[in-house]
Amino acid sequence: MAGVPRIMVLGTGGTIAGKGASSLDLTRYEVADVPLEGLLRPFSELNTVMELATEQIFNLPSSELTLEDLRHLALRVRDLLEQPDVDGVVITHGTDTLEETAYFLNLTLPVTKPVVLTGAMRPATAVGADGLLNLVQALCVAASPEAAGQGVLVVLNSEINAAADVIKMNTSRPEAFMSPDYGALGLVEDLRPVFFREVRRLHTYRSLFDIRDLRILPKVGILMGYLDVGPEAAEGLIAGGAQGIVVACVGNGNINRPLFQVLKEAVAQGIVVVRASRCISGNVSAKVRFDEEQFIASGALNPQKARILLTLALTKTASPGEIQALFHEY
Ligand code: ASP
Repeated sequence: MAGVPRIMVLGTGGTIAGKGASSLDLTRYEVADVPLEGLLRPFSELNTVMELATEQIFNLPSSELTLEDLRHLALRVRDLLEQPDVDGVVITHGTDTLEETAYFLNLTLPVTKPVVLTGAMRPATAVGADGLLNLVQALCVAASPEAAGQGVLVVLNSEINAAADVIKMNTSRPEAFMSPDYGALGLVEDLRPVFFREVRRLHTYRSLFDIRDLRILPKVGILMGYLDVGPEAAEGLIAGGAQGIVVACVGNGNINRPLFQVLKEAVAQGIVVVRASRCISGNVSAKVRFDEEQFIASGALNPQKARILLTLALTKTASPGEIQALFHEY
């Protein structure tokens, strides 16, 4: 229809496309069983306010996605948004790694048109399924001129969150997605997006990372800090050829002596080490002991997002100082 926004919906799988044997199966179901066409069938009412087109790009649980899949997805979204008749993109995605995909796209799509990710915590067949409303509200956000230039957005449970801030906080409840430090950017009242704030960090059209230049992405692993952690996991990552290591440290980026020793040697070999935190909120700040060894502080990024930024940063530079500057900006 002329004059209404044209939104492209890309399906990647996940619980939003999940099917249980009975409507009472809330956590037992097959992920990614319902194709996108089937999900969108109930939405003929939206036809008066937007035009929808669909593409099933993958149909996978999000725990199976790879960085190569994300590269492929980013290239496809970029191509679509370069078309003058596409006004926005909605991506349906498994919730397990949704925040990583959202942040990857946030850093690699040089666009201002809206890109919105959504998913579901309950399968499409369940009593109280949340996916359809999440999808309708994500479509309304993607069709809204106010969403333009705000970076990649995540819409679930009637909240609009920024890709850099949002975290999956719960294994199974519909209110799983939150931005614990800074709160949501806005909400969706019925079908109307209401924004309260803007993101100041660099993203999308102000980001340095051009997906078309990225072929082979560097290998970056995450390891967990805990009481009495030994060096074995770090040694495994180093032996496996990691170019970068993110530590989900205890507290404000603290690392015990045995692990610190191995990581110090890793930095001396040219491996970049980032200190993030296993705490769910709060910044990881610079600290003399770690700065002297050129460890990088992740700032506000959690370990899984720090890994995405470090992976992309390593395509530009291996200098710890330059990478720390990127962590301050993105
Ligand atoms: N439980 C997940 C979901 O919510 C499965 C996945 O991430 O694909 O979609």
